[in-house]
Amino acid sequence: MHTICQPAGEESLRRAAALLREGQVVAFPTETVYGLGADALNEGAVRAIFAAKERPADNPLIVHVADRGQLEGLCEVTDIAEKLMDAYWPGPLTLLLKKTDRVPDVTTAGLPTVAVRCPNHPVALALIRESGLPIAAPSANRSGRPSPTAAAHVYEDMQGRIPMILEGGSCRVGVESTVLDVSGDVPCILRPGAITQDMIARVAGDCTLAPSIMRPLREGEHAPSPGMKHRHYAPRARMTIFVGDDEKVVKAICERYDAAEGGWILAQDRCLPALGERRCLSLGRDAQEGARLLFQRLRELDEKNAAFILAQGWEAEGDALAVMNRMARAAAFDMIQL
Ligand code: AMP
Ligand code: MG
Repeated sequence: MHTICQPAGEESLRRAAALLREGQVVAFPTETVYGLGADALNEGAVRAIFAAKERPADNPLIVHVADRGQLEGLCEVTDIAEKLMDAYWPGPLTLLLKKTDRVPDVTTAGLPTVAVRCPNHPVALALIRESGLPIAAPSANRSGRPSPTAAAHVYEDMQGRIPMILEGGSCRVGVESTVLDVSGDVPCILRPGAITQDMIARVAGDCTLAPSIMRPLREGEHAPSPGMKHRHYAPRARMTIFVGDDEKVVKAICERYDAAEGGWILAQDRCLPALGERRCLSLGRDAQEGARLLFQRLRELDEKNAAFILAQGWEAEGDALAVMNRMARAAAFDMIQL
């Protein structure tokens, strides 16, 4: 299959929407990462997403809508969900709601709930509106690869597998949406994203975190969100994360780096001078910039054939939780607290 890449514009949006209505798969930008979209209510179309991504069939997809009206007939919107949508839609907040029979089981991997989100990106919104469909869309990477934050990353992974990629620049947030379980009295974050625990608690009164956000699932432990049990975001090289005082982190990273050949460092801007001539890529000035840069950096390190990666992390809390959740998985939880 030939894959065309086109900047999002009136003409290309019409073409992409027509493909979606035919049951085909189209990649498009959102504020979090690029998505691999298809008609959420068309079983064959949704299967084509799983095939293009080589995604395990037990990992459900997020259904993207352009406004709340589009949820009508798809799921039961509770009062608390309503309040959270008022506060954070459009935006990087995915809500799990009880699904109706109209949503096929392939979309939700057989679960009784459907994940729904309204993306805050003009191209995503225009595409959903133009197609008139709720769009099921996971991240547009091949399973196990870092999520794509630019159209070129999608092309690397999806070339020859899908008919079209809509280009819309680099993604502003850079990590996937917050996934929130709102079925209980207190909402629970299953996957951290740019909408933080505090932001949810402010609206919902309280908010908890799923226990496995910063550690691997234990043998036999139930995965509240099926995506958490799969290997994720892995660079080819082994990665170790160092968290703590700048000075201690720099010292520990330099010792490891100097003791072997072929290493690369990921560090925050203020520490770069202290790392001298060592091979290094920036994770920006703060956790938000780190989130925006992380997946791109992991792809760059694969290209550079890094033998091992030493990364400076943040304390896994507040707005750094999202980026640290991804980094920890990329490092197979090899983290050193200094
Ligand atoms: P991605 O589409 O790559 O951003 O992944 C979607 C994430 O949402 C995965 O981690 C899924 O496991 C999670 N998810 C989607 N639907 C559900 C659901 N009904 N219940 C729990 N988690 C879900
Ligand atoms: Mg993904």
